Amino acid sequence: MDVTGIELSLAMPRTCTVCPHPHRDDIDRRLLDGAPLRNIAKQFSLSSASLFRHNKHISKVLSNARQEAEILRADGLMDTT
Ligand SMILES: [Zn+2]
Repeated sequence: MDVTGIELSLAMPRTCTVCPHPHRDDIDRRLLDGAPLRNIAKQFSLSSASLFRHNKHISKVLSNARQEAEILRADGLMDTT
């Protein structure tokens, strides 16, 4: 299975301070939960501006991941027949 598309989109935004963050998973989860940017920024010592920018990276990664999942699912359905 080719995952280079996902890896590329993760590595692409070099100006983003959130993408390389060690607690990125937690940050992403909080953003997806709809937590206020100011709260997350405070919690992880980031600026709400960079979180706002990073928010777009999440949806990009997620839609890629969803596509991959759909492809995997389709492959699985074909394999079981
Ligand atoms: Zn980012």
